[in-house]
Amino acid sequence: MARDPRYDILFEPLKIGPVTAPNRFYQVPHCNGMGRVYPNAMIGMRGTKAEGGWGVVCTEQCDFLASGDASPYAETNMWDSGDEVYLGRMCEEVHRYGSLAGIELVHNGHDTPNLYSREIPIGPMDRPMNWSMAPIQARAMDKEDIRTYRRAHKQAAIRARDIGFDMVIVYAGHDGTVPSHFLARRHNQRTDEYGGSLENRLRLFRELLEETKEAIGDTTAVTVRFAVDEMMGPDGLEWQNEGKEAVEMLAELPDLWDVNVADWANDSKTSRFAPEGYQEEYVAFVKKMTTKPVSTVGRYTSPDAMVSAIKRGIVDLIGAARPSIADPFLPRKVEEGRLEDIRECIGCNVCVGWTQMGAPARCTQNPTFSEEWRKGWHPENMPAGEKDEHVLIVGSGPAGLEAARAAALRGFRVTLAEAGEELGGRVTRESKLPGLSAWARVRDYRIGQIQARPNVEIYLSSRLTADQVLELGADHVAIATGATWRRDGYGRHLDTAVPGTDGAHVLTPDDILAGKRPTGSKVLIFDDDHYYMASVIAELLSGEGYEVTLATPSTKIAAWMEHTLEQGANQSRLAEVGVTLMPNTTLLSVESGQALLRDNLHRREVEHAADGVIMVTSRRPEDGLYQELVQAIEDKPDCGIRTLRRIGDCDAPGIIATAVYEGHRFARDLGAEIDPCDVPFQRERHVIEAGQREASSAGS
Ligand code: ADP
Ligand code: SF4
Repeated sequence: MARDPRYDILFEPLKIGPVTAPNRFYQVPHCNGMGRVYPNAMIGMRGTKAEGGWGVVCTEQCDFLASGDASPYAETNMWDSGDEVYLGRMCEEVHRYGSLAGIELVHNGHDTPNLYSREIPIGPMDRPMNWSMAPIQARAMDKEDIRTYRRAHKQAAIRARDIGFDMVIVYAGHDGTVPSHFLARRHNQRTDEYGGSLENRLRLFRELLEETKEAIGDTTAVTVRFAVDEMMGPDGLEWQNEGKEAVEMLAELPDLWDVNVADWANDSKTSRFAPEGYQEEYVAFVKKMTTKPVSTVGRYTSPDAMVSAIKRGIVDLIGAARPSIADPFLPRKVEEGRLEDIRECIGCNVCVGWTQMGAPARCTQNPTFSEEWRKGWHPENMPAGEKDEHVLIVGSGPAGLEAARAAALRGFRVTLAEAGEELGGRVTRESKLPGLSAWARVRDYRIGQIQARPNVEIYLSSRLTADQVLELGADHVAIATGATWRRDGYGRHLDTAVPGTDGAHVLTPDDILAGKRPTGSKVLIFDDDHYYMASVIAELLSGEGYEVTLATPSTKIAAWMEHTLEQGANQSRLAEVGVTLMPNTTLLSVESGQALLRDNLHRREVEHAADGVIMVTSRRPEDGLYQELVQAIEDKPDCGIRTLRRIGDCDAPGIIATAVYEGHRFARDLGAEIDPCDVPFQRERHVIEAGQREASSAGS
């Protein structure tokens, strides 16, 4: 199909200094947990974005000096010529598809602990760092430090140009780089020419920009990534004041203004806390200040919203990190008039979460992300399967839906049976919770894809028994029957049942999602799950007028949300809606009208009035059907089933991203001979130098 002319503007080339982007789709720098640690995987992922039509594809942050070592995070770095090989390969991959390759040079200043390099961190001031509350202080940069820093930046920019990058980004954003630290009044109380007035605090950034332009600007675009507002009111940079003045002072210097808000948690807000395009109000002024092109991010997944942002004069280029992770082929799909095939980001930040844990990022919507090289998984194409083979999938949650979509794409004859009246399993239920409506995209994308294929039959209201599965005579069977929340309190902290949890006033998230509510007005939610579920139920019930207390054994509320950058916003939301928060608290027993809690801080027991108690602790796999089938196959090996697998929550309850990935993997693996002793992917190998011990002992 041809592209709809109303999207033509997204495919107009754009001049960025001396280079030209082929279209308006700009994959901004984004962390991915691969970088220098898993460079082949990183290269495979970036190449896939270019193949999918992103006109500019950037690295994640790339540190250029050992005193700005981003470890333990798996970012890129360019400390010396040894780093040129893998970054050069990334450029080649990006260029293969006609896209521009960009590199974001960074020094994280007083935010980076230099765990690997052991160098002393540097920044505008002598100050302790926030990273993990580590007992490490940064040294105030003296003139020599500043000269070294500028020289290394210039050297890295020249290297970047020489190995093929088309664009070098000078980075003052996210409250996480040396120029942004110098710019912030709260970080910079220097009395020399780099402190005091805005002009002085901006001096280092200006110097970097001028020096980079002078060194490589004739052939390479020199752009900025700049946070115009820190969303902390007068305590930080505000777009109406110094944010605007700073842009005005440097207006024509960069070849592109890529502008956003800081810090990272504000820049990468989840859909629970911000809608698509939410940064527009902060950055709209920039285009009035400069003749240079402007870009921003804002989780744009709708081409109409993209066109509108350009036509309203907010931006020239659509920046995207998460939308390009969820669908690396988004631009191609718009170009080919296949909007219904776009796999829209749901704004959950699971990708960020895995990066923050130092692992290759995974995506709820795109199970192939990070697997492009190591498993050879393409996001759009799959090897053809045997058309005559019949695949039965039982259960239509995220695991079952993805298994059905992927198996159908491979050409198998697919039957999807669902016990309920609707498809989608937990996604359908959970997307009705406050702030989670965008999560329904996991279901909607897959239903759209499945319905467009003639080789899938869907049966609703069909709770299959083992006998019925056998009667259907499928060659391959996936059991995706999900999991059930436990009522007894067993979880991370408690390994025996909490007395009294078998009473009628004790509910689980499944009960709440099915519409049940506590009687009375006082509700205690016990959270030993530490992700979103307890918090969104608290928000829901508080909105319905209940007096809600959330107790958790953790020292923090919804502690895992630190990784998705939501912990602070979640906690503030709960406080705003009037939920009483009790960290450091364990549930000891429940009886009618009250619960006995243990305050772990003061080591004492506390009676807490509660008409209803909601247990959010852990889940049990619903694997009864799977176990019956295992037995049936053992009893009758010639029953016809060649593959039987349990997938998703029925295998091991987890996050939605895991269920989608396991569903996808089931379909990919069909027909392959797999030895479970083998490593299920291609590994990165380090080159081990010969004779190390001889060399190091020679001098002793
Ligand atoms: P997952 O996250 O692993 O995909 P879900 O809990 O979201 O799991 O989905 C499981 C789905 O399986 C639910 O929609 C449930 O109704 C369905 N289901 C459970 N048992 C059966 C069964 N015996 N036959 C058909 N569908 C089933
Ligand atoms: Fe979007 Fe979630 Fe995928 Fe990240 S993990 S790209 S936020 S869908």
